[in-house]
Amino acid sequence: MQVFEEKERLRSALLQARQQGETIALVATMGCLHAGHLSLIRLAQQKADRVVVSIYVNPLQFAVGEDLACYPRPLADDLQLCEAEQVAMVFCPQSLYPSEPLHVSLCVDALDQVLCGQARPKHFDGVVTAVQVLFNIIQPHVAVFGEKDFQQLCILRRMVHDLSIPVEVLAAPIVRAKNGLALSSRNRYLDDVEYELARQLHQCLQGIASQVRAGENRVACLLQWGRTFLAKFSLHVQYLEIRESEKLQTLDILGQHCCRVFIAASIGQTRLIDNLELPCK
Ligand code: AMP
Repeated sequence: MQVFEEKERLRSALLQARQQGETIALVATMGCLHAGHLSLIRLAQQKADRVVVSIYVNPLQFAVGEDLACYPRPLADDLQLCEAEQVAMVFCPQSLYPSEPLHVSLCVDALDQVLCGQARPKHFDGVVTAVQVLFNIIQPHVAVFGEKDFQQLCILRRMVHDLSIPVEVLAAPIVRAKNGLALSSRNRYLDDVEYELARQLHQCLQGIASQVRAGENRVACLLQWGRTFLAKFSLHVQYLEIRESEKLQTLDILGQHCCRVFIAASIGQTRLIDNLELPCK
């Protein structure tokens, strides 16, 4: 496995690989790798000859007061995991950008005004800027992102479409712990009691899906069911919403569109997100 901190060295190694006809897949991460990330790597390996995993805690996507400084950075463990997965290349730059602040960057329109974007203004601007820089350096044929961050996935798909970026975006399903909790690097922040409580997010989403299977199609009633369920637990719900899965628009009645239920909630100091596809007709 080759590990690169310098983008120029990575670029020339990738140029050689490309000249030999290899296809390249990117898995962009902030490190602190877990089985969710590894599932992306495995999907990427099925789709391309050479997988590049990037590990970079992108400051542009953190607001003041968020966990940038304490975000876990166990780089040695991450490299071991990548090695065990037979990853070809890891890109772990000190900084992704030539100088900060940037004078030119990307911004998202509309899709970032809902769900996580409301609580985290500028967050998705930071994400798309970092991913575009990674695309420019690595020029992957394929990029794999997780459905865990479903809004991010929608925005990145839209970026690739709107900016005519020559990359295929693939989505990987959410990997969960045994108790249903979606794996996340931030789960490390939870103590035992909080970890136990955190599974209620998934329980709530599953409960709503069961209501749909039982015939309920009114979004307001489904969300009311969810809010009543969550009220029993000491967690702070930021949003619980049902939206269609492409443009993330709201709807009153579940119909032909594919829909998802989305949740963000804080447990103690830790903000968690999850989502689940709802059964459709
Ligand atoms: P992060 O390191 O949190 O920025 O995540 C890097 C990539 O891994 C993103 O595309 C995430 O959506 C994806 N990811 C994180 N957690 C999971 C999970 N539990 N299941 C599937 N994908 C995940």
